[in-house]
Amino acid sequence: MNRAKEHTEIMKNQDPSVRINNMNEVALGYTKEQAILESERCLNCKTKPCVNGCPVGIDIPKFLSEAAVGDFDKALSTIKESSLFPSICGRVCPQEKQCQKECTVGKMHKSVDEAVAIGRVERFVADYERENGKESKPVIAKKTGKKVAIVGSGPAGAACAADLAKNGHEVHIFEALHEAGGVLTYGIPEFRLPKAIVKKEFENLEALGVKIHLDTLVGRTRSIDQLMNEDGFNAVFIGSGAGLPNFLNIPGENAVGVLSANEYLSRINLMKAYDTSISRTPYPRAKRVAVFGAGNVAMDASRTARRLGAESVAIIYRRGEEEVPARKEEVAHAKEEGIEFMLLHAPKEILTDENGRVKGVVLYECKLGEPDASGRRRPEIIQGSEKVYDCDLVLVAIGNASNPLIKMTTPEIETNQRGNFIVNPDTLETSMKGVYAGGDIVLGAATVILAMGQGRKAAAAINKYLAE
Ligand SMILES: Cc1cc2nc3c(=O)[nH]c(=O)nc-3n(C[C@H](O)[C@H](O)[C@H](O)COP(=O)(O)OP(=O)(O)OC[C@H]3O[C@@H](n4cnc5c(N)ncnc54)[C@H](O)[C@@H]3O)c2cc1C
Repeated sequence: MNRAKEHTEIMKNQDPSVRINNMNEVALGYTKEQAILESERCLNCKTKPCVNGCPVGIDIPKFLSEAAVGDFDKALSTIKESSLFPSICGRVCPQEKQCQKECTVGKMHKSVDEAVAIGRVERFVADYERENGKESKPVIAKKTGKKVAIVGSGPAGAACAADLAKNGHEVHIFEALHEAGGVLTYGIPEFRLPKAIVKKEFENLEALGVKIHLDTLVGRTRSIDQLMNEDGFNAVFIGSGAGLPNFLNIPGENAVGVLSANEYLSRINLMKAYDTSISRTPYPRAKRVAVFGAGNVAMDASRTARRLGAESVAIIYRRGEEEVPARKEEVAHAKEEGIEFMLLHAPKEILTDENGRVKGVVLYECKLGEPDASGRRRPEIIQGSEKVYDCDLVLVAIGNASNPLIKMTTPEIETNQRGNFIVNPDTLETSMKGVYAGGDIVLGAATVILAMGQGRKAAAAINKYLAE
């Protein structure tokens, strides 16, 4: 008998009044029964529209049908055929813009919120297997004698490393920071992605034989040329991400109390600044916080500030609700946590006190005009609409560009006007022979699953190149 329920299983969350006082994960995940019930809602459509919506093409109806009969082992294997980190992607993928957007059940209900909650089942399956020690051991091919260097340990580098190691190559990751994981470690907060989960994934990577060299800045410690010509690497994959924050370029931006959201989040997540029993990293304590931008970075920064004692936090964004780029769930959680959304507002100037500290921001009101190149309606400033928002901390989260170091030290690699590496779309090889690139360094600031997908695509091409 099909017990499938009409409506999506609700996932439990920590209560907002409790969670704004701790760093623990907000979303508590499905129970086994809920995962089964939710999986049963899948109609197993012949055309599999959800698979087309998944950037790495996971066979979603297959894993849901396996989960629906409680065979979580098989469901996880099905997901892992296409995706390396299901416990991470189940938590951070923008499913409502990808697989769940295409789900027939959601379309029947005329609401993406009623689509099969694919991400939540993915997360459950991965967590269940990990917590019960049932993750299967991957098969590793016999040693090829070939060496590959990976620059950066974010999702792109990690995915590339895993596939190459499984193919028998000797793989070394070089990571500039003192912990592996890229944005998964330094950017996305603990309350959204517990670091123990990221650590476990990197332990799995090391178990495949991948060597991770931390505190190694390629372009300074070693150059790409040295890796290839002195250190004996047969190929290089660059997954160095987009870690260079954009700023507003308005008067007052150099004031004390203006930080990029990246720096703020790194201090908290990577350096654990909030836990003074283990960390001596300072962070700005603030009562009123203005956060510019409305992507995931802005949501993470604003919700972190709230947890660190800010009484009021405002997301300030030039466009409207429809254009907000952050994951829907993060926006909903931010609102529940009392974050104010000042939509259709743009910054004019940052105001400072006599000591050069931030005391407020002058904002313009905006209206939406015709769509711009991104397809979104262009914000237009309303002259004479200025107002002041009082605040003692400004966090800037208006996008990131690629770090220029490798470009500067490796002029053979061609880049576009934004500084992103230009690659052959089929192989992800750069203009330098044997050097491949993927993830945010190619795509610009994108998503975890797209970065992982590119890491895997490059690994397949490197594998062929090494066999030539
Ligand atoms: C705060 C925040 C929240 C986000 N939330 C989401 C989300 O919810 N969902 C989602 O899908 N995406 C999210 N993203 C985007 C996503 O995290 C990125 O698209 C993804 O991490 C890109 O992966 P990557 O491997 O290309 O780069 P990164 O994750 O940036 O990793 C690059 C790594 O390379 C290292 N590196 C850089 N230069 C060098 C060098 N010269 N030598 C050695 N190492 C170097 C860096 O230290 C870093 O560890 C978020 C991003 C941020 C910043």
